[in-house]
Amino acid sequence: MTRIALYPGSFDPVTNGHMDILRQSLALADRVVVAIGIHPGKAPLFSFEERVDLIHASARAEFSEDEASRIEVIAFSDLVVDTARNQGAAYLVRGLRDGTDLDYEMQMAGMNGTLEPDIKTVFLPASPSVRHITATLVRQIAKMGGEISAFVPEPVAEPLRQRTNSDS
Ligand code: ADP
Repeated sequence: MTRIALYPGSFDPVTNGHMDILRQSLALADRVVVAIGIHPGKAPLFSFEERVDLIHASARAEFSEDEASRIEVIAFSDLVVDTARNQGAAYLVRGLRDGTDLDYEMQMAGMNGTLEPDIKTVFLPASPSVRHITATLVRQIAKMGGEISAFVPEPVAEPLRQRTNSDS
């Protein structure tokens, strides 16, 4: 049986923290579906298409050919459990950075488990070297002209500098 995991988030843009969780997910599942949440009324820094391209480019740069080929990227705007079921995913992957993530994620896992008992939430701990990274802070640092190369995959760094420069 093909084990499919859904990894939902904003990925605006994908960071080294996301890549860490993605790498761990690929060791557990045959296929990982990265699901980009689309929220009407909330303007992202990168469009959906750009975020898809950045995820694939980063996977090609950092993972083996086999690992990169097992990643799919989709958009979703409905319930995450409905998206998982439609994708045939039995697992919902979430990264944990700290106790704040845990408290929130426990609530989400409980609610999602009630809505869809067949889909299991899997928590993966952030590797120590990336656990401080959040996409929100990375965007703020970039907008203020700070150096972001320690926080994002190489293919993301230049597009992020350009995007935040042209916006300022
Ligand atoms: P962010 O919180 O950085 O804006 P997302 O909303 O896209 O990112 O998060 C999607 C998922 O990735 C969540 O499960 C989140 O906990 C996880 N994640 C984000 N950054 C990290 C990190 N540095 N280490 C581990 N997991 C992370």
